[in-house]
Amino acid sequence: MSAGHDSALPRRLSLVPSVPGLESPLPAPRRQAPPPRTSAAPGEPTIRVRLAAVTDRCWQCRTKVRAVVGVLLEGRAFVPFDEVAEELAAALDPRVLAARRIGPIAHRDSPGVEGGYISNGCVECDALLGRFALEDLLREHLAGGGTYGQLDIGIPVELPAVAPLRRAAHG
Ligand SMILES: [Zn+2]
Repeated sequence: MSAGHDSALPRRLSLVPSVPGLESPLPAPRRQAPPPRTSAAPGEPTIRVRLAAVTDRCWQCRTKVRAVVGVLLEGRAFVPFDEVAEELAAALDPRVLAARRIGPIAHRDSPGVEGGYISNGCVECDALLGRFALEDLLREHLAGGGTYGQLDIGIPVELPAVAPLRRAAHG
């Protein structure tokens, strides 16, 4: 019997006659651990950040919610939400967010912005939490002596090393 071109097995996996008492020298195939959740393409450089969020009340259903206002690099440099919204939407797991009372980061229609935009939403009713209102909350927090570090809610995420993140990392 010859190995034809139609063989489904690669050559290195072809069967050899077993020798009684001789163990295979090949280690058993190991299960691969899943890679960390990221929106980066394989091989693309990434930067590890943590989510910064403010607490808000949904204007529609009045539920107490959190909303992402940006990301923190190594707990220091801050990059605003708008500059990494697309990357966040692709990388974040809605279930992880929901556990912290944050709705999905996703594109939503907005009466004020043609075509809508990638935004925060209410974790209960998915109402759009507008970016200007959230920027106001952030400004109030900082004006009252609050720090960016206080907004760290302990959710790490690996983002593609896009320009705003690289600038913040090296600034
Ligand atoms: Zn709501």
